[in-house]
Amino acid sequence: MKSPILALTLALCAGAAAQAATPALVIHGGAGVIAKEITPAREKEVRATLERALREGYAVLKAGGSSLDAVDKAITTMEDSGTFNAGRGAVFNHDGRNELDAAVMDGATLRAGSVANVHTVKNPILLARAVLDQSPHVMLVGEGAEIFARSVGMTPVPPSYFYTETRWRELQDALKEEREKAADPKTVPHHGTVGAVALDQAGHLAAGTSTGGITNKRYGRVGDSPIIGAGTYADAKCAVSATGWGEFFIRATAAHDICARVEYRGDSLKEAARAVVMDVIPRLGGDGGVIAMDDQGHITTPYDTEGMFRGWIDTDGTMHIAIFAEK
Ligand code: ASP
Repeated sequence: MKSPILALTLALCAGAAAQAATPALVIHGGAGVIAKEITPAREKEVRATLERALREGYAVLKAGGSSLDAVDKAITTMEDSGTFNAGRGAVFNHDGRNELDAAVMDGATLRAGSVANVHTVKNPILLARAVLDQSPHVMLVGEGAEIFARSVGMTPVPPSYFYTETRWRELQDALKEEREKAADPKTVPHHGTVGAVALDQAGHLAAGTSTGGITNKRYGRVGDSPIIGAGTYADAKCAVSATGWGEFFIRATAAHDICARVEYRGDSLKEAARAVVMDVIPRLGGDGGVIAMDDQGHITTPYDTEGMFRGWIDTDGTMHIAIFAEK
């Protein structure tokens, strides 16, 4: 027979275990935003898409869904919108093709899935999730990733699905600048990327990132977004999705560095993310930003470009959307 004290202790423990964590969600639509390029119409579109992605992702969390599912939901909404450089709005490479990258990571188990250089996959984030759930691998690229997509029942879209007039014009401008040798090699244009980090009611974190990469990138170039630890990382206490000049985020293993600082140095998430984005990356010559969350639902969104499209729903349920520095 249990003693009354033991019974009380067990009941308290069960109560604590059953107590739900308060969900939170943070998303981005890319750093490198330049104020003078944002027309009122563009700002309206960006805000509307961020708001929709936040609402849809957060609804998954409120319904008791997993942080992985919430990340997928928020990112597919942004991929389908054509608003950002991911999915339908992806930029063109040097050859006039779209090559898309994505990754997703589950903080509770450290399972991850990622894909690079896909060109007929409508939602690369869902293919990354399929790699996580249905393959023994972490990363699949190019034709192998395309074949895997068919094998898990994804219907291909024609490459023309990714064609948008704006992105095509951006490539033509970049090619012209390159021909005229007017391009400053230190200022690679950033055109977005989307990402999401979520905390679910079980207290589990997840992070995901999806991108078309960088306009005029060479055939086969892979950025940081699908590289676990560079553009995407999640563990039990910290989750990060990055955006910016990918080569530098890879060299700095930026997303993992942030979580390692939290884990090993005891830095707050804010200090860790700020140090990597404001010190480490610029010292190497790169720029960009991150969204990050810890297991208490604290959110931070540092960037060292003029602006970064971002939005979040706090643990108190309040929605925020921002592009430039908050007043
Ligand atoms: N980080 C992405 C890449 O290098 C681009 C971006 O976020 O703007 O592929």
